[in-house]
Amino acid sequence: MSNSITRQGDSTVHVALGARSYDIHIGEGLLPRAGDIIAPFMKRPLTAIVTDTNVAAAHLATLERALAGKGIRSTAIIMPAGESTKSYQHLADLCDRLLAAGIERRDRIIAFGGGVIGDLAGFAAAILRRGVDFIQIPTSLLAQVDSSVGGKTGINSGHGKNLIGAFHQPLTVITDTSLLSSLPRRELAAGYAEVAKYGLLGDTAFFEWLEETSPLIMRGTPDAVIRAVRISCEAKARIVAEDETETGVRALLNLGHTFGHALEAATGYSQRLLHGEAVAIGMVQAFRFSERLGLCSPGTAERVAAHLKSAGLPVHASQIPGDLPPPATLLEIMRQDKKAQGGKLTFILVRGIGEAFIAQDVPEHDVLDFLTGDLRQR
Ligand code: NAD
Repeated sequence: MSNSITRQGDSTVHVALGARSYDIHIGEGLLPRAGDIIAPFMKRPLTAIVTDTNVAAAHLATLERALAGKGIRSTAIIMPAGESTKSYQHLADLCDRLLAAGIERRDRIIAFGGGVIGDLAGFAAAILRRGVDFIQIPTSLLAQVDSSVGGKTGINSGHGKNLIGAFHQPLTVITDTSLLSSLPRRELAAGYAEVAKYGLLGDTAFFEWLEETSPLIMRGTPDAVIRAVRISCEAKARIVAEDETETGVRALLNLGHTFGHALEAATGYSQRLLHGEAVAIGMVQAFRFSERLGLCSPGTAERVAAHLKSAGLPVHASQIPGDLPPPATLLEIMRQDKKAQGGKLTFILVRGIGEAFIAQDVPEHDVLDFLTGDLRQR
């Protein structure tokens, strides 16, 4: 149904979390209309937009105009782009700048960027003045299908990724798929890994649709992109509604992440390997490992790899530039991963495409044998 805010072609996904429920507005060209969506949430016409240098250069003026059109004054806080911005130093800097901008408890902060800005600004909102509400406007494909939904916020520590953080749900999410046109191709592919993940973990029909449609999605065909984003958000919303704080089923969203995080840590969270690329390699490893354990039929991992490769993603650790540490070091990194509980490794394994499950107590020697064989295949 259309009203002054939504238009034909837009869709809304509801995240059902009781008092913390919210809507994800998805559409092409939503940013110029963002003021209409945001205005009802404002208690006074003042906000801070947290963004990064790349997003600011491409889209900040449009958002500022959209807010000004509704009489909302905004201060833009432009952070450096990149994963290293998710640090204590940048968090402290951001909090001070939010305070300097006069942001009070009743105000709303806008996180306008990819997953880095969403995680950082969301966490700053969670702790500033003991908690300020915030709105997500995700601008990368990864943020649109994953990080803007579900309320996980945080920064990295020297001990690992996302180890300092809070659950803080946004008031609403505004997902304008046309913003993806300025996203570098490599970043688009990295985000696509998370789209494919939803099919691989629990929706065979969606994966089959992606196998046919991914060229259109990668070319930015609006209908295909909107559908892929909507189905991804619906899948995440369902899982988050069932298990907001990851005591159970939400862990399925970590398909490919235990392997992937180890590779990201081993490559120093650098441009050598983007998060989504690590997830792509990690998902193929999860399928190969499941095949090796006799859990899923031979050839499934190859089908997954062929699909991710066609979207321009790396599918094997040998494609990562530079040297990698030996398998025993990767295993050690996995032990330190936040998903290791009581020293035991938890993996998301598969019985087939769309059939992921949580496997606790995976024997370390099985993982080590697998990694040793897998990394040798160069
Ligand atoms: P990112 O925020 O670094 O964005 C990737 C790059 O694209 C950056 O250089 C950014 O400036 C640029 N960019 C973003 N949108 C753009 C646009 N529209 N036009 C031009 N350039 C644009 O990284 P990401 O891939 O979006 O997110 C990765 C982060 O998300 C990681 O830190 C990861 O831990 C986190 N994450 C969080 C969750 C969660 O649930 N909170 C889930 C998955 C990932």
